[in-house]
Amino acid sequence: MFDVIIIGSRCAGSSLAVRLAKLDCRILIIDKADFPSDTNSTHIFGETDFFLENNLVSSFNQINSPQIKRMRININRSSFESNITMTERLSAMDRYSLDNLLINKLDDYHNVIFRKKSKLVSVQENDDGYTVRYQYEDKIHIVSCKVLIGADGKNSTVARKVKASMAKETDKTYPCLYGYFENVFPLMPHCLEWHYNSGDIIICAPTNDKLHVVLLIPMDNRELTKYNKVEAFINRITSFPCIEDRFKNANLVGKLKGIGDQNMFIRKPFGKRWALVGDACSWVHPISGSGIDDAFEGSRLLAKYLEGYLKGEESWESSMNKYSIAIEGYMENQISRVLSTFDNFNVDLPNYNEEILQLFCTFPSLIYSFAFKAEQILKEFDGNHLNFLKTIVK
Ligand SMILES: Cc1cc2nc3c(=O)[nH]c(=O)nc-3n(C[C@H](O)[C@H](O)[C@H](O)COP(=O)(O)OP(=O)(O)OC[C@H]3O[C@@H](n4cnc5c(N)ncnc54)[C@H](O)[C@@H]3O)c2cc1C
Repeated sequence: MFDVIIIGSRCAGSSLAVRLAKLDCRILIIDKADFPSDTNSTHIFGETDFFLENNLVSSFNQINSPQIKRMRININRSSFESNITMTERLSAMDRYSLDNLLINKLDDYHNVIFRKKSKLVSVQENDDGYTVRYQYEDKIHIVSCKVLIGADGKNSTVARKVKASMAKETDKTYPCLYGYFENVFPLMPHCLEWHYNSGDIIICAPTNDKLHVVLLIPMDNRELTKYNKVEAFINRITSFPCIEDRFKNANLVGKLKGIGDQNMFIRKPFGKRWALVGDACSWVHPISGSGIDDAFEGSRLLAKYLEGYLKGEESWESSMNKYSIAIEGYMENQISRVLSTFDNFNVDLPNYNEEILQLFCTFPSLIYSFAFKAEQILKEFDGNHLNFLKTIVK
Protein backbone atom coordinates (compact mmCIF):
# COMPACT_ATOMS: atom_id res chain seq x y z
CA MET A 1 0.00 0.00 0.00
CA PHE A 2 1.23 3.51 -0.84
CA ASP A 3 1.01 6.31 1.70
CA VAL A 4 0.07 8.75 -1.05
CA ILE A 5 -1.02 8.39 -4.68
CA ILE A 6 -0.76 11.58 -6.72
CA ILE A 7 -2.62 11.90 -10.03
CA GLY A 8 -0.88 14.41 -12.33
CA SER A 9 2.86 15.03 -12.46
CA ARG A 10 3.47 18.56 -13.69
CA CYS A 11 4.22 21.58 -11.44
CA ALA A 12 1.79 20.76 -8.63
CA GLY A 13 2.11 16.95 -8.63
CA SER A 14 5.88 16.55 -9.10
CA SER A 15 6.79 19.26 -6.62
CA LEU A 16 4.43 17.72 -4.06
CA ALA A 17 5.94 14.27 -4.63
CA VAL A 18 9.46 15.66 -4.03
CA ARG A 19 8.32 17.40 -0.85
CA LEU A 20 6.53 14.32 0.52
CA ALA A 21 9.40 12.04 -0.46
CA LYS A 22 11.53 13.93 2.05
CA LEU A 23 9.07 12.82 4.76
CA ASP A 24 9.87 9.19 3.91
CA CYS A 25 6.42 8.41 2.52
CA ARG A 26 5.86 5.74 -0.15
CA ILE A 27 4.48 7.60 -3.12
CA LEU A 28 3.04 6.60 -6.47
CA ILE A 29 2.65 9.44 -8.98
CA ILE A 30 0.98 8.81 -12.33
CA ASP A 31 0.30 10.95 -15.37
CA LYS A 32 -1.59 10.12 -18.55
CA ALA A 33 0.86 12.21 -20.61
CA ASP A 34 4.13 10.99 -22.07
CA PHE A 35 7.19 13.08 -21.13
CA PRO A 36 8.86 15.30 -22.15
CA SER A 37 5.74 16.93 -23.51
CA ASP A 38 3.97 20.24 -23.84
CA THR A 39 0.79 21.41 -22.16
CA ASN A 40 -1.63 24.20 -23.02
CA SER A 41 0.24 26.95 -21.20
CA THR A 42 2.93 29.56 -21.56
CA HIS A 43 5.56 29.35 -18.92
CA ILE A 44 6.61 32.55 -17.22
CA PHE A 45 7.11 31.93 -13.52
CA GLY A 46 8.70 33.56 -10.50
CA GLU A 47 9.15 30.55 -8.23
CA THR A 48 12.70 30.25 -6.94
CA ASP A 49 12.49 28.53 -3.52
CA PHE A 50 11.65 25.05 -4.80
CA PHE A 51 14.44 25.18 -7.39
CA LEU A 52 17.00 26.47 -4.89
CA GLU A 53 16.04 23.90 -2.24
CA ASN A 54 16.38 21.11 -4.78
CA ASN A 55 19.58 22.28 -6.53
CA LEU A 56 17.80 22.82 -9.81
CA VAL A 57 18.81 26.41 -10.60
CA SER A 58 21.92 25.40 -12.56
CA SER A 59 19.63 23.42 -14.89
CA PHE A 60 17.98 26.71 -15.91
CA ASN A 61 21.28 27.78 -17.43
CA GLN A 62 21.70 24.48 -19.30
CA ILE A 63 18.24 25.01 -20.81
CA ASN A 64 19.28 28.59 -21.69
CA SER A 65 16.29 30.07 -19.93
CA PRO A 66 16.89 33.83 -19.77
CA GLN A 67 16.83 35.47 -16.35
CA ILE A 68 14.18 38.18 -16.39
CA LYS A 69 14.69 40.79 -13.71
CA ARG A 70 12.82 43.75 -15.17
CA MET A 71 9.23 44.49 -16.07
CA ARG A 72 8.02 46.91 -18.72
CA ILE A 73 4.43 48.10 -18.90
CA ASN A 74 3.22 49.91 -22.00
CA ILE A 75 -0.11 51.70 -21.96
CA ASN A 76 -0.73 52.60 -25.60
CA ARG A 77 2.28 54.84 -26.29
CA SER A 78 3.56 55.33 -22.73
CA SER A 79 6.12 53.09 -21.04
CA PHE A 80 6.98 52.30 -17.44
CA GLU A 81 9.88 50.07 -16.51
CA SER A 82 11.39 48.85 -13.26
CA ASN A 83 13.17 46.01 -11.49
CA ILE A 84 10.76 43.24 -10.57
CA THR A 85 10.17 43.24 -6.83
CA MET A 86 7.96 40.17 -6.33
CA THR A 87 10.75 37.68 -6.98
CA GLU A 88 14.51 37.67 -7.53
CA ARG A 89 14.00 36.52 -11.09
CA LEU A 90 11.34 35.46 -13.50
CA SER A 91 12.09 32.44 -15.62
CA ALA A 92 10.66 31.47 -18.93
CA MET A 93 11.37 28.01 -20.29
CA ASP A 94 9.08 25.89 -22.41
CA ARG A 95 6.97 23.33 -20.62
CA TYR A 96 8.86 20.44 -22.27
CA SER A 97 11.92 21.57 -20.33
CA LEU A 98 10.29 22.77 -17.10
CA ASP A 99 8.04 19.77 -16.50
CA ASN A 100 10.78 17.35 -17.52
CA LEU A 101 13.17 18.93 -15.04
CA LEU A 102 10.66 18.26 -12.27
CA ILE A 103 9.99 14.70 -13.35
CA ASN A 104 13.69 13.86 -13.56
CA LYS A 105 14.01 15.04 -9.96
CA LEU A 106 11.67 12.20 -8.90
CA ASP A 107 14.44 9.71 -9.82
CA ASP A 108 16.44 10.95 -6.81
CA TYR A 109 13.98 9.30 -4.42
CA HIS A 110 13.83 5.52 -3.96
CA ASN A 111 10.45 5.90 -2.23
CA VAL A 112 8.77 7.53 -5.27
CA ILE A 113 7.45 5.50 -8.19
CA PHE A 114 6.54 7.49 -11.30
CA ARG A 115 4.38 6.06 -14.09
CA LYS A 116 3.87 8.07 -17.26
CA LYS A 117 1.28 7.25 -19.94
CA SER A 118 -0.89 6.02 -17.06
CA LYS A 119 -4.46 7.27 -16.93
CA LEU A 120 -6.65 7.26 -13.85
CA VAL A 121 -9.70 5.08 -14.47
CA SER A 122 -11.49 4.85 -11.12
CA VAL A 123 -11.14 5.48 -7.39
CA GLN A 124 -13.00 3.61 -4.71
CA GLU A 125 -12.99 4.44 -1.03
CA ASN A 126 -12.13 1.57 1.32
CA ASP A 127 -11.57 1.22 5.09
CA ASP A 128 -7.93 2.36 4.91
CA GLY A 129 -8.08 4.93 2.11
CA TYR A 130 -8.58 4.34 -1.62
CA THR A 131 -8.32 1.65 -4.25
CA VAL A 132 -7.14 3.25 -7.49
CA ARG A 133 -7.34 1.77 -10.97
CA TYR A 134 -5.22 3.18 -13.75
CA GLN A 135 -4.60 2.16 -17.32
CA TYR A 136 -1.10 1.77 -18.76
CA GLU A 137 -1.16 0.70 -22.39
CA ASP A 138 -3.87 -2.01 -22.51
CA LYS A 139 -3.55 -3.15 -18.93
CA ILE A 140 -5.49 -2.00 -15.86
CA HIS A 141 -3.38 -1.75 -12.68
CA ILE A 142 -4.94 -1.81 -9.23
CA VAL A 143 -3.16 -0.07 -6.35
CA SER A 144 -4.18 1.29 -2.96
CA CYS A 145 -3.22 4.24 -0.79
CA LYS A 146 -3.98 5.99 2.48
CA VAL A 147 -4.28 9.42 0.85
CA LEU A 148 -5.33 10.34 -2.69
CA ILE A 149 -4.19 13.63 -4.25
CA GLY A 150 -5.63 15.23 -7.37
CA ALA A 151 -2.93 17.28 -9.11
CA ASP A 152 -4.52 16.56 -12.44
CA GLY A 153 -5.26 20.06 -13.67
CA LYS A 154 -8.30 22.22 -14.25
CA ASN A 155 -10.61 19.45 -15.48
CA SER A 156 -9.54 17.17 -12.65
CA THR A 157 -10.80 13.59 -12.89
CA VAL A 158 -10.07 13.14 -9.19
CA ALA A 159 -12.29 16.11 -8.32
CA ARG A 160 -15.05 14.55 -10.41
CA LYS A 161 -14.66 11.08 -8.94
CA VAL A 162 -14.68 12.28 -5.31
CA LYS A 163 -17.45 14.79 -6.10
CA ALA A 164 -15.50 17.84 -4.92
CA SER A 165 -17.84 20.84 -4.69
CA MET A 166 -17.07 24.42 -5.75
CA ALA A 167 -16.15 26.84 -2.95
CA LYS A 168 -16.09 29.86 -5.26
CA GLU A 169 -16.74 30.52 -8.94
CA THR A 170 -16.61 33.71 -11.00
CA ASP A 171 -18.44 34.59 -14.19
CA LYS A 172 -16.75 33.76 -17.48
CA THR A 173 -13.67 35.91 -18.11
CA TYR A 174 -11.78 36.33 -21.40
CA PRO A 175 -10.33 33.96 -23.99
CA CYS A 176 -6.66 34.15 -24.89
CA LEU A 177 -4.26 32.98 -27.57
CA TYR A 178 -0.53 32.47 -27.50
CA GLY A 179 2.36 31.58 -29.76
CA TYR A 180 6.17 31.33 -29.85
CA PHE A 181 8.08 33.55 -32.24
CA GLU A 182 11.59 33.59 -33.66
CA ASN A 183 13.42 36.66 -35.00
CA VAL A 184 11.96 39.06 -32.47
CA PHE A 185 14.30 41.93 -31.67
CA PRO A 186 14.95 41.44 -27.92
CA LEU A 187 14.88 44.07 -25.17
CA MET A 188 18.07 44.29 -23.14
CA PRO A 189 18.18 43.71 -20.24
CA HIS A 190 15.50 41.03 -20.56
CA CYS A 191 12.03 42.27 -19.61
CA LEU A 192 8.66 40.80 -18.99
CA GLU A 193 6.50 43.04 -21.20
CA TRP A 194 2.87 43.87 -20.50
CA HIS A 195 1.18 45.90 -23.25
CA TYR A 196 -2.25 47.50 -23.42
CA ASN A 197 -3.51 48.81 -26.75
CA SER A 198 -7.05 49.88 -27.69
CA GLY A 199 -8.74 47.45 -25.34
CA ASP A 200 -6.46 44.42 -25.88
CA ILE A 201 -3.63 43.13 -23.72
CA ILE A 202 -0.50 41.21 -24.62
CA ILE A 203 2.12 39.69 -22.37
CA CYS A 204 5.46 38.99 -23.99
CA ALA A 205 8.70 37.46 -22.70
CA PRO A 206 11.94 36.08 -24.06
CA THR A 207 12.31 32.35 -23.57
CA ASN A 208 14.71 29.51 -24.28
CA ASP A 209 15.86 28.71 -27.85
CA LYS A 210 16.00 32.48 -28.60
CA LEU A 211 12.22 32.60 -28.92
CA HIS A 212 9.69 35.05 -27.55
CA VAL A 213 6.36 33.92 -26.20
CA VAL A 214 3.36 36.20 -26.73
CA LEU A 215 -0.03 35.85 -25.04
CA LEU A 216 -2.87 37.95 -26.49
CA ILE A 217 -6.06 38.69 -24.56
CA PRO A 218 -8.48 40.36 -26.97
CA MET A 219 -10.87 41.91 -24.46
CA ASP A 220 -13.53 42.78 -27.01
CA ASN A 221 -13.72 39.45 -28.77
CA ARG A 222 -14.83 36.41 -26.82
CA GLU A 223 -15.02 34.23 -29.92
CA LEU A 224 -11.36 34.73 -30.93
CA THR A 225 -12.38 34.44 -34.61
CA LYS A 226 -10.67 37.72 -35.36
CA TYR A 227 -7.20 36.63 -34.27
CA ASN A 228 -6.90 32.87 -34.48
CA LYS A 229 -5.28 32.93 -37.92
CA VAL A 230 -1.53 33.48 -37.87
CA GLU A 231 -1.58 36.56 -40.07
CA ALA A 232 -4.34 38.22 -38.06
CA PHE A 233 -2.51 37.43 -34.82
CA ILE A 234 0.77 38.93 -36.10
CA ASN A 235 -1.07 41.96 -37.48
CA ARG A 236 -2.66 42.53 -34.10
CA ILE A 237 0.69 42.28 -32.29
CA THR A 238 2.41 44.63 -34.70
CA SER A 239 -0.37 47.18 -34.22
CA PHE A 240 0.78 47.59 -30.60
CA PRO A 241 2.73 50.87 -30.81
CA CYS A 242 5.69 49.93 -28.59
CA ILE A 243 6.28 46.57 -30.19
CA GLU A 244 5.72 46.88 -33.93
CA ASP A 245 9.31 47.38 -35.09
CA ARG A 246 10.63 44.50 -33.03
CA PHE A 247 8.18 42.03 -34.61
CA LYS A 248 8.76 43.06 -38.25
CA ASN A 249 10.66 39.85 -39.11
CA ALA A 250 8.99 37.59 -36.56
CA ASN A 251 7.84 34.09 -37.54
CA LEU A 252 5.54 31.85 -35.59
CA VAL A 253 7.20 28.62 -34.45
CA GLY A 254 4.64 25.84 -33.99
CA LYS A 255 0.94 26.60 -33.68
CA LEU A 256 -1.19 29.24 -32.01
CA LYS A 257 -2.86 27.78 -28.93
CA GLY A 258 -5.18 29.11 -26.28
CA ILE A 259 -8.39 28.83 -24.34
CA GLY A 260 -11.96 30.13 -24.62
CA ASP A 261 -13.71 32.27 -22.00
CA GLN A 262 -13.82 30.28 -18.79
CA ASN A 263 -14.71 30.95 -15.19
CA MET A 264 -12.16 31.06 -12.41
CA PHE A 265 -12.88 28.82 -9.44
CA ILE A 266 -11.75 27.40 -6.12
CA ARG A 267 -12.88 23.84 -5.39
CA LYS A 268 -13.34 22.61 -1.85
CA PRO A 269 -9.74 21.43 -1.44
CA PHE A 270 -10.19 18.28 0.64
CA GLY A 271 -12.62 15.57 1.71
CA LYS A 272 -12.31 12.14 3.26
CA ARG A 273 -8.59 11.34 2.79
CA TRP A 274 -8.44 13.12 -0.56
CA ALA A 275 -7.06 16.58 -1.37
CA LEU A 276 -6.65 18.73 -4.46
CA VAL A 277 -3.69 20.91 -5.42
CA GLY A 278 -2.66 23.20 -8.30
CA ASP A 279 -5.21 23.86 -11.06
CA ALA A 280 -7.27 20.91 -9.83
CA CYS A 281 -7.90 22.91 -6.67
CA SER A 282 -8.18 26.39 -8.12
CA TRP A 283 -7.96 27.90 -11.58
CA VAL A 284 -7.01 31.52 -12.23
CA HIS A 285 -6.96 33.23 -15.63
CA PRO A 286 -3.50 33.25 -17.33
CA ILE A 287 -3.42 37.05 -17.17
CA SER A 288 -2.35 36.55 -13.55
CA GLY A 289 0.88 35.00 -14.89
CA SER A 290 0.96 33.05 -11.63
CA GLY A 291 -0.58 29.61 -12.30
CA ILE A 292 2.78 27.86 -12.07
CA ASP A 293 3.77 29.79 -8.94
CA ASP A 294 0.36 29.02 -7.46
CA ALA A 295 0.87 25.32 -8.16
CA PHE A 296 4.21 25.40 -6.30
CA GLU A 297 2.69 27.36 -3.43
CA GLY A 298 -0.24 24.93 -3.25
CA SER A 299 2.13 21.96 -3.06
CA ARG A 300 4.20 23.71 -0.38
CA LEU A 301 1.10 24.31 1.74
CA LEU A 302 -0.31 20.82 1.18
CA ALA A 303 3.01 19.14 2.07
CA LYS A 304 3.29 21.34 5.17
CA TYR A 305 -0.17 20.43 6.46
CA LEU A 306 -0.02 16.76 5.40
CA GLU A 307 3.14 16.25 7.43
CA GLY A 308 1.37 16.15 10.81
CA TYR A 309 -1.20 13.68 9.52
CA LEU A 310 1.30 11.40 7.78
CA LYS A 311 3.48 11.26 10.91
CA GLY A 312 0.42 10.32 12.97
CA GLU A 313 0.64 13.53 15.01
CA GLU A 314 -2.55 15.20 13.83
CA SER A 315 -6.00 14.14 12.64
CA TRP A 316 -6.91 14.35 8.95
CA GLU A 317 -9.67 16.91 9.60
CA SER A 318 -7.47 19.17 11.69
CA SER A 319 -4.50 19.18 9.27
CA MET A 320 -6.68 19.60 6.17
CA ASN A 321 -8.78 22.36 7.71
CA LYS A 322 -5.54 24.33 8.05
CA TYR A 323 -4.66 23.56 4.41
CA SER A 324 -8.11 24.63 3.33
CA ILE A 325 -7.92 27.99 5.13
CA ALA A 326 -4.42 28.69 3.79
CA ILE A 327 -5.03 27.73 0.16
CA GLU A 328 -8.49 29.29 -0.12
CA GLY A 329 -7.22 32.59 1.35
CA TYR A 330 -4.25 32.60 -1.00
CA MET A 331 -6.28 31.78 -4.13
CA GLU A 332 -9.08 34.24 -3.27
CA ASN A 333 -6.43 36.94 -3.27
CA GLN A 334 -5.15 35.81 -6.71
CA ILE A 335 -8.67 35.74 -8.16
CA SER A 336 -9.57 39.18 -6.81
CA ARG A 337 -6.37 40.67 -8.29
CA VAL A 338 -7.29 39.26 -11.70
CA LEU A 339 -10.85 40.56 -11.45
CA SER A 340 -9.60 44.01 -10.55
CA THR A 341 -7.16 43.91 -13.51
CA PHE A 342 -10.02 43.04 -15.87
CA ASP A 343 -12.27 45.72 -14.34
CA ASN A 344 -9.59 48.36 -14.85
CA PHE A 345 -8.70 47.42 -18.42
CA ASN A 346 -12.31 46.96 -19.47
CA VAL A 347 -12.73 50.71 -19.71
CA ASP A 348 -11.04 52.52 -22.61
CA LEU A 349 -8.55 55.22 -21.71
CA PRO A 350 -10.02 58.58 -22.78
CA ASN A 351 -7.84 60.30 -25.45
CA TYR A 352 -7.33 63.40 -23.35
CA ASN A 353 -6.08 61.35 -20.38
CA GLU A 354 -3.76 59.49 -22.67
CA GLU A 355 -2.16 62.72 -23.78
CA ILE A 356 -1.68 63.67 -20.14
CA LEU A 357 -0.13 60.27 -19.52
CA GLN A 358 2.36 60.80 -22.34
CA LEU A 359 3.19 64.17 -20.87
CA PHE A 360 3.68 62.55 -17.50
CA CYS A 361 6.08 59.99 -18.95
CA THR A 362 8.14 62.75 -20.60
CA PHE A 363 8.85 64.85 -17.52
CA PRO A 364 11.24 63.32 -14.96
CA SER A 365 10.22 65.84 -12.29
CA LEU A 366 6.59 64.73 -12.57
CA ILE A 367 7.59 61.12 -12.13
CA TYR A 368 9.78 62.07 -9.18
CA SER A 369 6.84 63.85 -7.53
CA PHE A 370 4.69 60.79 -8.21
CA ALA A 371 7.28 58.64 -6.45
CA PHE A 372 6.97 60.80 -3.34
CA LYS A 373 3.19 60.35 -3.29
CA ALA A 374 3.06 56.76 -4.53
CA GLU A 375 1.57 55.25 -1.38
CA GLN A 376 -1.04 58.00 -1.05
CA ILE A 377 -2.05 57.67 -4.72
CA LEU A 378 -2.36 53.91 -4.50
CA LYS A 379 -4.47 54.21 -1.36
CA GLU A 380 -6.85 56.44 -3.24
CA PHE A 381 -7.12 54.27 -6.36
CA ASP A 382 -6.68 50.70 -5.30
CA GLY A 383 -6.62 49.88 -1.60
CA ASN A 384 -6.58 46.14 -2.39
CA HIS A 385 -3.39 46.48 -4.37
CA LEU A 386 -1.81 48.60 -1.67
CA ASN A 387 -2.54 45.94 0.96
CA PHE A 388 -1.13 43.29 -1.33
CA LEU A 389 2.00 45.33 -2.09
CA LYS A 390 2.62 45.91 1.60
CA THR A 391 3.05 42.16 2.00
CA ILE A 392 5.92 42.11 -0.50
CA VAL A 393 7.61 45.51 -0.14
CA LYS A 394 10.00 45.41 2.79
C1 LIG B 1 -3.04 29.77 -22.19
C2 LIG B 1 -2.41 29.62 -20.84
C3 LIG B 1 -1.26 30.33 -20.54
C4 LIG B 1 -0.68 30.22 -19.27
N1 LIG B 1 0.46 30.91 -19.00
C5 LIG B 1 1.03 30.83 -17.77
C6 LIG B 1 2.24 31.53 -17.48
O1 LIG B 1 2.85 32.17 -18.34
N2 LIG B 1 2.71 31.46 -16.23
C7 LIG B 1 2.10 30.73 -15.24
O2 LIG B 1 2.59 30.73 -14.11
N3 LIG B 1 0.99 30.01 -15.50
C8 LIG B 1 0.44 30.04 -16.73
N4 LIG B 1 -0.69 29.32 -17.00
C9 LIG B 1 -1.26 28.48 -15.94
C10 LIG B 1 -0.43 27.18 -15.73
O3 LIG B 1 -0.26 26.51 -16.94
C11 LIG B 1 -1.15 26.25 -14.76
O4 LIG B 1 -1.65 26.97 -13.67
C12 LIG B 1 -0.20 25.16 -14.26
O5 LIG B 1 0.29 24.41 -15.34
C13 LIG B 1 -0.93 24.24 -13.31
O6 LIG B 1 -0.12 23.15 -12.99
P1 LIG B 1 -0.77 21.80 -12.46
O7 LIG B 1 0.37 20.89 -12.17
O8 LIG B 1 -1.72 22.10 -11.37
O9 LIG B 1 -1.69 21.24 -13.65
P2 LIG B 1 -1.34 20.85 -15.16
O10 LIG B 1 -0.15 21.57 -15.66
O11 LIG B 1 -2.62 21.00 -15.89
O12 LIG B 1 -0.96 19.29 -15.07
C14 LIG B 1 -1.94 18.32 -14.82
C15 LIG B 1 -1.39 16.96 -15.25
O13 LIG B 1 -2.36 15.97 -14.88
C16 LIG B 1 -2.43 15.00 -15.90
N5 LIG B 1 -3.76 14.35 -15.86
C17 LIG B 1 -4.96 14.94 -16.08
N6 LIG B 1 -5.94 14.01 -15.99
C18 LIG B 1 -5.33 12.83 -15.70
C19 LIG B 1 -5.81 11.50 -15.49
N7 LIG B 1 -7.11 11.19 -15.56
N8 LIG B 1 -4.91 10.50 -15.22
C20 LIG B 1 -3.58 10.81 -15.16
N9 LIG B 1 -3.08 12.03 -15.36
C21 LIG B 1 -3.93 13.04 -15.61
C22 LIG B 1 -2.21 15.78 -17.20
O14 LIG B 1 -1.71 14.94 -18.22
C23 LIG B 1 -1.19 16.84 -16.76
O15 LIG B 1 0.13 16.44 -17.04
C24 LIG B 1 -1.29 29.40 -18.27
C25 LIG B 1 -2.44 28.67 -18.58
C26 LIG B 1 -3.00 28.77 -19.85
C27 LIG B 1 -4.26 28.00 -20.15
